[in-house]
Amino acid sequence: MTRGHTVGVIGAGMAGLACARELAAKGFEVTVFDKGRGLGGRTATRRAEPNLRFDHGAQFFTMTDPRFREFTDDWLARGVVAEWTGRIVRLENKTVIDSSLQPRYVGMPGMSAMAVDLAVGLCVRIGTQINAVTHSAVGWTIVTEANETVGPFDTLVVTLPAPQAAALLGSYHFGAVASNVKMTACWTVMAAFESRVELPWDGAFVHDSPLAWVARNSSKPGRERETDCWVLQASPEWSAAHLEVTADIAARDLLDAFGSVVGGHLPPQQYVAAHRWRYGQCSEPDGRSKLFDPEIGLAVCGDWLADGRIEGAFLAGIRAADAVCEH
Ligand SMILES: Cc1cc2nc3c(=O)[nH]c(=O)nc-3n(C[C@H](O)[C@H](O)[C@H](O)COP(=O)(O)OP(=O)(O)OC[C@H]3O[C@@H](n4cnc5c(N)ncnc54)[C@H](O)[C@@H]3O)c2cc1C
Repeated sequence: MTRGHTVGVIGAGMAGLACARELAAKGFEVTVFDKGRGLGGRTATRRAEPNLRFDHGAQFFTMTDPRFREFTDDWLARGVVAEWTGRIVRLENKTVIDSSLQPRYVGMPGMSAMAVDLAVGLCVRIGTQINAVTHSAVGWTIVTEANETVGPFDTLVVTLPAPQAAALLGSYHFGAVASNVKMTACWTVMAAFESRVELPWDGAFVHDSPLAWVARNSSKPGRERETDCWVLQASPEWSAAHLEVTADIAARDLLDAFGSVVGGHLPPQQYVAAHRWRYGQCSEPDGRSKLFDPEIGLAVCGDWLADGRIEGAFLAGIRAADAVCEH
């Protein structure tokens, strides 16, 4: 019986939106909350003036699971995503090695496109940080940063990065599981150059550098190509060691590192910004996809319970929805 069954989903990233969409399709009354200004969480697109866009979180996605493939095929057919056919390499000891030819997909015109599509028809409250959750005989009540009390909900689905899920759940079931999962930070620089950075590739996994990944954002399909836009992502080690530096310092140091990677002077930049993902990626995910306690109607899911990537986050959300439906 789903009619009238209310669900509160905290987090409008891939996991939260996949879960909410699946539950809403089955007749549940779903409300999604996210503290961010937009949808997608770490599958994010940053807009900058004039007409610049950067994928400053997830860069692309791959797929292996048939259920995710079904969604991706539909997104491809509707132009929500497209294959990125740019040349992707590995840079090791100044050697350029072509990376695997596995298809890589990107949102159009930015990585948040999949989240925007999943959210169509859903009740999503963005800009709403949840500070507390409480379970009682009537269900789950949540309290926002603005001290608004919302609910009760029959079921609560928490889809935050592990440390944030742990903080929100506290001593509730699964809080302890989340508190044992480590997530690494990632400093990301977005740079638009006044002229083209001449390189024979579009994206590179970088070794032996403060940088771990660099990509010509403007080489992805559906992006504005007139301006040469790059995204530079620092390694987990560099990001951890420089966690508290200012964005200006992170940008300066990582642009210097990019100069070393390309082995020469970079063109002047017309736009530079840096963003710190405090809880960027999970290198050792728990692997269970979702956690569900039918006694209190609590589900927890997210990439840290899957493969640490977009596909896993999406599937974790779907599996959490399956668990709620089966209950
Ligand atoms: C720099 C970087 C590069 C990456 N590159 C790739 C890649 O190339 N390919 C790939 O597949 N994956 C990549 N990933 C991983 C991918 O982005 C994640 O696996 C996926 O987006 C996680 O989705 P999620 O829904 O589990 O979590 P999130 O996207 O983190 O969603 C959680 C949401 O919860 C919200 N939230 C947090 N706290 C609260 C609160 N208290 N109240 C309300 N809302 C709250 C957040 O705003 C966020 O929107 C990358 C990640 C980073 C950071």
